[in-house]
Amino acid sequence: MSVEPAAGWTYATLADGRTVGRLGGLAAVAGTAHLFSTRDGGTLAAGDPAGRSNRLVLAGVLGAERVVTGRQVHGTTVLDIDTDPPEGLEADALMTTRRHVALLGLSADCPILLLADPVRGAVGMAHAGWRGTTADVAGALVAAMAGAYGCRPADLRAGIGPSAGPCCYTVGQEVVEAIRAVLGERGDACVVRREGRVCADLWRANVLLLRRAGLDRGHIEVAGACSICDNRYFSYRREGATAGRHGGMIARI
Ligand SMILES: [Zn+2]
Repeated sequence: MSVEPAAGWTYATLADGRTVGRLGGLAAVAGTAHLFSTRDGGTLAAGDPAGRSNRLVLAGVLGAERVVTGRQVHGTTVLDIDTDPPEGLEADALMTTRRHVALLGLSADCPILLLADPVRGAVGMAHAGWRGTTADVAGALVAAMAGAYGCRPADLRAGIGPSAGPCCYTVGQEVVEAIRAVLGERGDACVVRREGRVCADLWRANVLLLRRAGLDRGHIEVAGACSICDNRYFSYRREGATAGRHGGMIARI
């Protein structure tokens, strides 16, 4: 199984000059809107004074009135925004059936997964760095959407956003072992060895985990943009701890 960049991955320039990326399959889900921001959308980091205003600008592009994000800790907690959880909770995954609420995942190399259910009218987001990926936050989100909203995995559409790609994401043995632990032999296809380096393919790992959770392969898109070698994105690996954060955002509208 190959994990090629989605044919439907496109960039659009907004009226204010910011560039955003979108996936064709997700964009085709009626009643939802999504985007992946780039560096020129500014940082969306919580600790940055500009972060809040940049978030609201992008939420407005979606037609959302509110932005929700969890405190990302590389875990598998899924927050149901329909039940009004208090602000500031630790959570790497969010879901809602409410309209005009944008779910935001922040990234500086970590894959952000966006999910939409065209049948039940639900959306979800998961922040899936290597720890979240290998803890199967993707499966946790699909299970939570099924449990709370009655979503059928076969109905779900998923998109995997710009993040550290298999071209650049050099990892140590602990990551290789964690991938093997969660995916077994199938995880071997998510470890790329070349020129003495070992790189992880978290895009492929999340495709496999979403497939295992019941999604159709044809409903899973990968942007295929690598945040480490594509300067359009913020990258912890390339820029260090002061790197800004781009994000993935999805809302029912
Ligand atoms: Zn790369």
